[in-house]
Amino acid sequence: MSVLEAQNIHKKFGKSDILKGVSLTIDKGEVLVLLGPSGSGKSTLLRTLNGLETIDSGEIIFNDRILELSELAWQKIRPEIGMVFQSYDLFPNLTVLDNILLGPLKVQKREKTAVASEAIALLERIGLADKAESYPRELSGGQKQRVAIIRSLVMQPQVLLFDEVTASLDPEMVREVLSVIQGLALEGMTMLIVTHEMNFARQVADRVIFMDAGQILVETNSEAFFTTEDNPRVKQFLSSLA
Ligand code: ADP
Ligand code: MG
Repeated sequence: MSVLEAQNIHKKFGKSDILKGVSLTIDKGEVLVLLGPSGSGKSTLLRTLNGLETIDSGEIIFNDRILELSELAWQKIRPEIGMVFQSYDLFPNLTVLDNILLGPLKVQKREKTAVASEAIALLERIGLADKAESYPRELSGGQKQRVAIIRSLVMQPQVLLFDEVTASLDPEMVREVLSVIQGLALEGMTMLIVTHEMNFARQVADRVIFMDAGQILVETNSEAFFTTEDNPRVKQFLSSLA
């Protein structure tokens, strides 16, 4: 069963075609990894999938319903489609706990005591319960990014989108963030992940999509992508990283 689908999405910035008819499906419980060279349109595609970027044509389908693409409609649906970015963008003037509670309280209008205990439980799970009352500036990059993941998770999204969430981290912090994502995968969380960590991609992906210049060139299972895929652009991409 598909949770989120894009059908034939086109997007221009000015006169440049950035997405040239992109279609994809994310099934429930699936980990889909989106790879491709810098500038191929990965971030733009992710942003269109939770309404942060408008599209010129095409359809976005959530739980088999074609979404109405107005900002008002997106405001209702967006909490269901969580997104974590490369920059952690936590609010500097709020504690870790208040950063996590903001969405559930302000957007979802949930009840504070229930959400707070959920938030604490999530912080415990990632080993940061003792940081609940700390401010973002008191955390390392890896800790901030783990909090950013929790902040999305606490909204109980049906799917999570990750855009190069380890790209600005020091190597020793990359692993702690990736292992949180790996844990979510084991629990059956539905995820679309853009990453340049190829070992991680290979481990976590059920399926891989490869994008180049605004188009999906290859869509295949993870093992095939990393072992037998013979698309020349894929080979060039993988060898450029090796
Ligand atoms: P990727 O994430 O794969 O590196 P992006 O989606 O960020 O690629 O960018 C794809 C192309 O779209 C790039 O050429 C980029 O310069 C362009 N682009 C992205 N965002 C904008 C924007 N807001 N305005 C104009 N061009 C943009
Ligand atoms: Mg990007």
